[in-house]
Amino acid sequence: MEVRTRFAPSPTGYMHIGNLRTALFTYLIAKQSGGKFILRIEDTDQERYVEGAVDVIYDTLRNCGLNWDEGPDVGGPVGPYIQSERMSMFKEYAEKLVESGHAYYCFCDKERLEEVRKIQVASRISPMYDRHCRNLSPEEIKEKLDAGIPYVIRQKVPTEGTTTFHDEIYGDITVENSTLDDQILIKTDGMPTYNFANVVDDHLMQITHVVRGNEYLASSPKYNLLYEAFGWEPPKYIHVEHIMKNATEKLSKRNGDASFNDLIEKGFMTEAVVNYIALLGWAPKGENEIFTLEELVQEFSIDGLSKSPAIFDPVKLKAINGAYIRKLSPEAFLEKALPYIRQTVKVRDDIDFALLASVLQPRTELFTDIPEQVDFIDALPEYDTAMYCHKKMKTNEETSLEALNAVLPVLEALDDWSVDGVHSALFGLVEKMGVKNGYILWPVRTAISGKQFTPGGAVEICSLLGKEETIARIKKGIEKLS
Ligand code: GLU
Repeated sequence: MEVRTRFAPSPTGYMHIGNLRTALFTYLIAKQSGGKFILRIEDTDQERYVEGAVDVIYDTLRNCGLNWDEGPDVGGPVGPYIQSERMSMFKEYAEKLVESGHAYYCFCDKERLEEVRKIQVASRISPMYDRHCRNLSPEEIKEKLDAGIPYVIRQKVPTEGTTTFHDEIYGDITVENSTLDDQILIKTDGMPTYNFANVVDDHLMQITHVVRGNEYLASSPKYNLLYEAFGWEPPKYIHVEHIMKNATEKLSKRNGDASFNDLIEKGFMTEAVVNYIALLGWAPKGENEIFTLEELVQEFSIDGLSKSPAIFDPVKLKAINGAYIRKLSPEAFLEKALPYIRQTVKVRDDIDFALLASVLQPRTELFTDIPEQVDFIDALPEYDTAMYCHKKMKTNEETSLEALNAVLPVLEALDDWSVDGVHSALFGLVEKMGVKNGYILWPVRTAISGKQFTPGGAVEICSLLGKEETIARIKKGIEKLS
């Protein structure tokens, strides 16, 4: 049988990382079996409707490479793929269940239901429909229908016994039927509830695997009873655990960074985000954790999914982003990095940007970190001479002054300011003086950058700044130390 999976987002205008992960797993399951990945927009909750929200779904999925085989815009054999356009067909399915004894008309009005609920709450019973209309006679029903009394159609859940459903991660889950509510399938306006529509839609769209958040776990027995009542084969269920911000809080819009767009705005690369979210709740078999989407299609397996919540780890995401940045060609990196470099390098446009990019690339984990790293190029920042003291390099203000005084004439005499040229000059001096590299390089780097951490070392920075600026900064260092 062909594998057919579906991603069924509600258009909220916001792609939560958890939803994107559901989409990714859904896509991977379909693609690794050569199956179909279907997009169904579940827009029936009009209160949650947000203008342009469907585009957020399309754009995010496409950017991430999660292209769907069937969906609202690309069509397909089992459409329409927008739930609100399917509304008229559900009632007849519910009526079939009424005929077969698996559902019934309920004429209870709001006031009565509220009364029942109050009594249940007061008696500490979990609120449930009291099944008042479950056993109305055919005559009573006809009478009420003829009188035009508004009604809903409810699922007739068995009152005894148990229902078991199978989840690919959690195994068999069994519940007592007596705990299940006779939930509404069709509302008074003739429209289905979400709980009914998703079952009928999944069946009509011939969905074989349903991946969704485990907040739907509790409803799954009722869904299974519906499949059984229709005589339909239920799909394979894969309920995935939540993504947490920490041990107690869920990753949510309120506590930040919960959406795909938040991460992209922070400077993360799409490929890195996709790679990282695959690891939220899924463990690859080997040590490697860096996978392209194509590799994920090969590597992913349902049995690597976890039963415990995944914790969103921004440090790990950053490290993975760094791995993707290192994979870029030097040209591609320069192109992406340049706008960030230019945020703080505004005056000097004569520097070798390719050289700067080449020293940045191995140490950049996030493009947005770049401006701060190169903010010493236009002008030497204020710095404290204590920065010249380095325990491991065995330098202090005194040795640094000596080193800079030795470096100055060497650099003044230097004509070749390429990286190789500066390298030969400084290392020639190290050798001549019989000192450790750091004895010369640390003070030089401090004098010309005024910073504790720089992309590249003294040699690259001298070459970048050029002769005039380097010499001016070394002189300034000598002055400060004297
Ligand atoms: N529209 C539902 C949601 O966004 C989908 C639930 C499901 O996948 O069954 O939560």
